[in-house]
Amino acid sequence: MSAKILSGKEIAQAIKDDVAAEVGKIGFRPGLAVVRVGEDPASAVYVGSKVRTTEELGMYSEHLHFADDVTQQELLGVVSSLNSRDDIDGILVQLPLPKHIDEREILEAILPEKDVDGFHPMNVGRLSQGQKALVPCTPAGVIEILKRSGIDIAGKHAVIVGRSNIVGKPMAMLLLQENATVTICHSRTVDLPSITRQADILVAAIGRAGFIRGEHIREDAVVIDVGINNVSDVSLAPELFSEEDLPKRLAAIEKRGFTLVGDVNPKEAMEKAGAFTPVPGGVGLLTVAMLMKNTVEAAKMRRGI
Ligand code: NDP
Repeated sequence: MSAKILSGKEIAQAIKDDVAAEVGKIGFRPGLAVVRVGEDPASAVYVGSKVRTTEELGMYSEHLHFADDVTQQELLGVVSSLNSRDDIDGILVQLPLPKHIDEREILEAILPEKDVDGFHPMNVGRLSQGQKALVPCTPAGVIEILKRSGIDIAGKHAVIVGRSNIVGKPMAMLLLQENATVTICHSRTVDLPSITRQADILVAAIGRAGFIRGEHIREDAVVIDVGINNVSDVSLAPELFSEEDLPKRLAAIEKRGFTLVGDVNPKEAMEKAGAFTPVPGGVGLLTVAMLMKNTVEAAKMRRGI
């Protein structure tokens, strides 16, 4: 048996098309400011993609880049000035920030109505109370994949591995809102496979390449892989990738030094699951699309549209 692939590509494109149409309708350009600190190459790629997509969809985008030694006070000043600008509807501070910066204080300084990442305690609280809120992009993207793939959520047992504020916890709240029965697992969970095997919908957000194996997956379950990890060790490849996939992956390691792998072993998930989101090409593509959606939402909400 081979799992159905739940590709993020078409779904992300459909969401972006909806956003572009909405921008055309509202008659002004929502503005997104992205704040980046330091020279982390992954952050540079993510920010580049966010800025580019914002403009492609007809919105205004501003990229503010600071050196590693920027101070807490300077960053707070930047957020405060973006908060007060009428042309800026969304503010995103790309994480991680350097160690000397108090990340939480920066995120909490963003006005909740401009918090397009959905990390402000006000939005977290609203989400947990089932009120209208700006919701974190990655878990919101997972819900879009499930819904737009015609997968029923109500009444299903959803098991999430990972309890971070960015993915695991908001994922649990969103699945609960969709009337799933939700279990959250983490590093202290005892006998993880016995719990994950109860999942109709299994979401992995752990940060460990290929951690979820066949033994964790119930036959025919829907497996959503949120993880993004670099694998550079060629000797791991045969355990992770099918014979069909292997040559491409080895070529990527040779050319770039790594290949992208999620938190689920793709070879075993393909054999055991009923449906599976690939990495790359799955959940990751939804994150930027949902950020675009949040920016338009924020612009409309702030103007009472
Ligand atoms: P965090 O490191 O913040 O959280 C990881 C979670 O996994 C923790 O709750 C931790 O438990 C749990 N965990 C770690 N080891 C185990 C284990 N052995 N058994 C069970 N649970 C375990 O990671 P994030 O939530 O930020 O990210 C998770 C993954 O998702 C990463 O691969 C990241 O790259 C990816 N990601 C992808 C995005 C996308 O756009 N697709 C966006 C954001 C993240 P505990 O709390 O007990 O420590």
